[in-house]
Amino acid sequence: FVRFEDVQKSYDGETLVVKNLWLEIAKGEFLTLLGPSGSGKTTCLMMLAGFESPTHGQILLGRQSITHVPPHKRGIGMVFQNYALFPHMSVAENVGYPLKVRGVGKADMQARVQRALDMVELGHLGGRRPAQLSGGQQQRVALARALVFEPALVLLDEPLGALDKNLREQMQYELKHIHANLGVTMVYVTHDQTEALTMSDRIAVFDDGIIQQLDEPATLYEAPGNAFVAQFIGENN
Ligand code: ATP
Repeated sequence: FVRFEDVQKSYDGETLVVKNLWLEIAKGEFLTLLGPSGSGKTTCLMMLAGFESPTHGQILLGRQSITHVPPHKRGIGMVFQNYALFPHMSVAENVGYPLKVRGVGKADMQARVQRALDMVELGHLGGRRPAQLSGGQQQRVALARALVFEPALVLLDEPLGALDKNLREQMQYELKHIHANLGVTMVYVTHDQTEALTMSDRIAVFDDGIIQQLDEPATLYEAPGNAFVAQFIGENN
């Protein structure tokens, strides 16, 4: 469904922060990019989103190369750690924004916004401003906004990083639930091993711009392919 074909990325024309990446992501899969800070995870997500372009290679979505398609035409939903909600808009307006820019009519928009808000259990708070919500609720709004135009692919970059432990665990559960219900493909970036192990269908362990191992959580845990993976997966577990 998604394919990275020999993708490289350099920001300075010298150092490769992503090196010869070949990666296939299946439709409906929950794939996590896991690795230490600076290993190239976010860069991969940014190239998939279209905010960065590969220095070499190409990226396919379905059968089409999206390497040169601008971000807003890729039909990909995105959620980041710092929510980036519009403070002057209500919750419902925030969620409806991607539909508005796509020219969706008002009645249709209202129905779809309500559905997306119900999905994250915020159906009753559409009239509030983001500042009147808790951190967890704000992150749910960001998720609803990413899902509202029914994208086939959703990218999440450390979406739960700013939340405390209990809320993070609850949100992990809710996110998995939404993933299972919608059958949407999710690519998730984290440096938290436990989070990756609990949530993912498969995990790509990154180090130094290279996927060290790509496997199901149980395999990674029980049969790490090299010393780096063994040590990284073992930390905090
Ligand atoms: P983190 O978890 O800290 O976000 P990461 O694994 O996502 O780390 P990247 O953000 O992809 O890693 O960064 C990979 C390397 O590329 C790092 O050395 C980083 O400093 C560099 N880098 C990332 N973005 C840029 C940029 N816009 N310009 C220049 N260098 C960048």
